Amino acid sequence: MIEQDKIAEQVRMCAACPKMCRHVCPTFFAWRSDAPTPHGRALLLHQEIVGTRKIDERGVEVLYQCLECSHCLTWCKPEIDIATFVELKRQELVKSGQQPKGISQLTSLVSAMHNPFDEDHSKRNMWIKISKSKGPKVLYFTGCTAAYREKDSAQDTVYLLELLGYSVEVTPDEWCCGSPLIRTGDIETGLKQAAHNVEVLNRVDAEEILVTCPGCYRVLTTDYTENGYVLNKPVLHISEFLAKSLDKLPVGKCDRLVSFHDPCHLGRHSGIYQAPRDVITQVCGVAPVEMDRNKENAMCCGNGAGLRTLFPEYAKKIGAERIRQAKNVDAKYLVTSCPFCKEMLDAQSDELLTVLDLPEFVMQFGKGRDVKTD
Ligand code: SF4
Ligand code: SF4
Repeated sequence: MIEQDKIAEQVRMCAACPKMCRHVCPTFFAWRSDAPTPHGRALLLHQEIVGTRKIDERGVEVLYQCLECSHCLTWCKPEIDIATFVELKRQELVKSGQQPKGISQLTSLVSAMHNPFDEDHSKRNMWIKISKSKGPKVLYFTGCTAAYREKDSAQDTVYLLELLGYSVEVTPDEWCCGSPLIRTGDIETGLKQAAHNVEVLNRVDAEEILVTCPGCYRVLTTDYTENGYVLNKPVLHISEFLAKSLDKLPVGKCDRLVSFHDPCHLGRHSGIYQAPRDVITQVCGVAPVEMDRNKENAMCCGNGAGLRTLFPEYAKKIGAERIRQAKNVDAKYLVTSCPFCKEMLDAQSDELLTVLDLPEFVMQFGKGRDVKTD
């Protein structure tokens, strides 16, 4: 837990900064305004601490316009962690009932349906085709986006694991991992999901838990443990998992340029940059072409930390910019390693650029055929 004095000192420093990082903030790009920037948010927090301004409706809006992408942190010489301060303030706003209506609705949905999409829980992941093969058992935690919105990605994940010789388990009892709630300030309800999931996942007989969604990965490996919810099996992201078996991956042929989009929760928040690139290189025979903004400097897809829920048009604007950046390096395929990023980027793309989640990419290219878009 960060001490209040430290937060006060850091937001004071940031409020007085010449805004060195503003140009990388995706919400500055989207709104073209000084308020939804790292400096703008710190100024709000500083003014509240010194008693010159209360967080009013506009303040709440600015605090919920942050993607918590932590891109500003990579540019900040004094290493001021605006995303964490924003999340802590959101927790206070939720406690005092000042959160936006869309966030309360998100809490109600996840509490009632166990997913943020208002989908039937009984249809979560039992549709996935699994052949009861022999081999080391791996538990695939599907996550809400793959289970309900990116089903090809979920199914390809299972096919791929089976191709590598694993026996795959999924459990119909898994709930939303809690990430959408934890990142938007409702830590209490988020941790109820954690308590349930830990209980359910610990009962499954498997050697490892595999996740494809970096949002799930971050909460399962960090937020759960920090709050005392401990899983009894190691948790791996699909990119790390595949990178451990590079020589077993199906090898294909890519005759067009492939680029990679780093999901914020995988890259800046979990430090995994190389594994998905190694997988693409192995499958393709050539390394992905890098966009100007890559790895620590990658731009967020626009989906993070409730932005799409509250400000869908601005979220899409950010996603469309990321697509433009991929087209700018002549990529014909944009691979990501996150069903949530994939959904956003795919919706902003067109027939000139195909967006794929990593398991889909490996399955499609690894079959020895290039995926044609025209
Ligand atoms: S986050 Fe760091 S670089 Fe950005 S405005 Fe604040 S102090 Fe300056
Ligand atoms: S975390 Fe991302 S969206 Fe939030 S202030 Fe920093 S760069 Fe901007």
